Amino acid sequence: MDRVLILGGGVGGTLTANLLARKLRSRIDRGQVDITLVDAMGAHVYQPGFMYIAMGGEREERLARPERSLLDAPVNLVVDTVVRVDDGARTVVLASGAVLPYDYLVLSTGCRILPQMIEHFEEEAEHFYTATAALKLRRALDEFKGGKVVVGIASMPYKCPPAPLEVAFLIESELRERGLREKSEVHFCSPIGRAFTIESVSEMATPIFEQKGIELHTFFNVDAIDPERKAVLSLEGEELPYDLLVLVPPHKGQQFLMDSGLAPAPGGWLPTDRNTLRVGGRPNVFALGDATDLPLSKAGSTAHFEAPVVVEGIVSAIEGREPAGRHAAYEGRVMCFFEVGDGKGTLLRFDYEHPPKPPKPNALWHLGKIVFNKTYFHTVPRGRV
Ligand SMILES: Cc1cc2nc3c(=O)[nH]c(=O)nc-3n(C[C@H](O)[C@H](O)[C@H](O)COP(=O)(O)OP(=O)(O)OC[C@H]3O[C@@H](n4cnc5c(N)ncnc54)[C@H](O)[C@@H]3O)c2cc1C
Repeated sequence: MDRVLILGGGVGGTLTANLLARKLRSRIDRGQVDITLVDAMGAHVYQPGFMYIAMGGEREERLARPERSLLDAPVNLVVDTVVRVDDGARTVVLASGAVLPYDYLVLSTGCRILPQMIEHFEEEAEHFYTATAALKLRRALDEFKGGKVVVGIASMPYKCPPAPLEVAFLIESELRERGLREKSEVHFCSPIGRAFTIESVSEMATPIFEQKGIELHTFFNVDAIDPERKAVLSLEGEELPYDLLVLVPPHKGQQFLMDSGLAPAPGGWLPTDRNTLRVGGRPNVFALGDATDLPLSKAGSTAHFEAPVVVEGIVSAIEGREPAGRHAAYEGRVMCFFEVGDGKGTLLRFDYEHPPKPPKPNALWHLGKIVFNKTYFHTVPRGRV
């Protein structure tokens, strides 16, 4: 029997499990293949919705579904926390003490956010990378009566690169709608020399910052927060006072991947082949989604486009042939909606060879994102788009 073990029931793991179950159905029915997914929470969370808890009236309870309800029947689900992978023995050890053997391993355990890595982050800064934090930011915005808003990025890489820009744009729009704009300044801090890592997106976003009167601070790598003077300090020596500080927290890969020798410290990102999605040259271990070290957006859409390639890698190995067809290799495909405020959005669509050419922001792309959010649980994880 070929045992496929998938770690993580987020976008990448759930979609991979369902696509594999469909491709390998007859072998599963004959008892030749077993597909098991392990997830610590047993629930699938739609994280892009967190931003809308802070900025758009979304509610936490609408953003999660039981993992079992999203998985095709032939996929076994184990709700437990992975503590170690023994690559030599081809086993995975769970917190309960259970040991699961595998022939093929899929690593899709996403990443951790670590606000505690920056002193005073938790008392002083707001963020929107968990539902609880997003609700706290919403309350802080409700109480805000004008002053200096600073939106920044504590360190790279982080999930959903457009998200902090979107939040800066949405906060600015909200302040205008609430009549607080005249009494406020909005600042955006980018760790690099422009507004966004991808040049064409920077070219689209920079005039929006100018038009909205949001001050863009480039080369601002967050070094420290001074709670007494209410200022955020950069490694480059700049100091920005704030009344409301919104910071993307530091991100890392999962600790167990570092402990298992699969992902190097300090980041914990899995060394992943950009085309085959195999990890560290191993023929039977694949990674997708936020867990990889690929120089691409850590985005649900990245995992979405990677999953069929992982599936083709495993199915072809089980069938004893080379990967073939349009999912033989991952070409770096990503697609993200991008809110710019005032009910408008744009779209970033790109791959390794073709940088995005974002269309002029309009109401349709904003609506596209809202429809995508509302339909997500019926589409992406179930493999229907
Ligand atoms: C505020 C915000 C806005 C975003 N906006 C967008 C957007 O507009 N578009 C977009 O494409 N993406 C967006 N993203 C990013 C997107 O949510 C992630 O990139 C995506 O969820 C990654 O999928 P994944 O499968 O790699 O990891 P996840 O979806 O994070 O899933 C990882 C799973 O692994 C499980 N796990 C972790 N460790 C263990 C363990 N030790 N044992 C067992 N299970 C474990 C977790 O329980 C979790 O279910 C956004 C994210 C945030 C936070």
